[in-house]
Amino acid sequence: TASADTTPNYVITTDATYPPFDFQDKNNQYVGIDQDILKEIAKREGFTYTLKPMSFNAATQSVTSDQADGVIAGMSITDERRQVFDFSTPYYKSGIAWAVSKDSKVKSLDDLRGKTVAIKTGTSGANYALSVQKKYGFKVTYFNDSETLYRDVINGNSVATFGDLPVLQYSIKNGTQLKVMNPKDPFEAGEYGFAVKKGGNAKLLASFDKGFAEIKKDGTYDKIVNKYLDASA
Ligand code: GLN
Repeated sequence: TASADTTPNYVITTDATYPPFDFQDKNNQYVGIDQDILKEIAKREGFTYTLKPMSFNAATQSVTSDQADGVIAGMSITDERRQVFDFSTPYYKSGIAWAVSKDSKVKSLDDLRGKTVAIKTGTSGANYALSVQKKYGFKVTYFNDSETLYRDVINGNSVATFGDLPVLQYSIKNGTQLKVMNPKDPFEAGEYGFAVKKGGNAKLLASFDKGFAEIKKDGTYDKIVNKYLDASA
């Protein structure tokens, strides 16, 4: 039928490794809070999509360079990004924290002087680290994915990292040998949003928002979040 022919298929990028938001399950299927939300919204709104997992930096750049229609990747809504992206309704509260290896002797940001800090290319955590780099006198080393970055800190090649609080906490709970230094007072609050290129893909963005309002209202959203974060426990 005509309507079947016009079912839109979008290209959507994501961070290849960003649990609990985006990651692969035992069967190599992409799952996580972002992925479950997207799947549910697409089903309700009647669109299909081709998922393209890659580094976070590449995922956002694919959208600004018109190689993809949208990105969902634990992406923080920032004023700077609003210049080039249109964001959906915020779907998750986050914040920026710093972490060191589990038995590190580092106690304060002043202890970072002369040391190397691992940051993830193109992220708000990296931006925050760069904004205080002069003040605390540390060097930076860049990574494209969180797993490799964590290993660098655990191995002691770098002494600390700056990143999203809920993501660091989830990884630590699942065995990553790091500790968060400011779990109660993140440096910056933030919210995640689904994004399209500014001025482009308005229909996709409207579908996302409409579907999101529905899954929020009927409890599906809470179910998805609790599935990964077990907030009730
Ligand atoms: N929330 C951070 C940002 O938007 C990190 C996202 C990520 O690494 N997937 O920059």
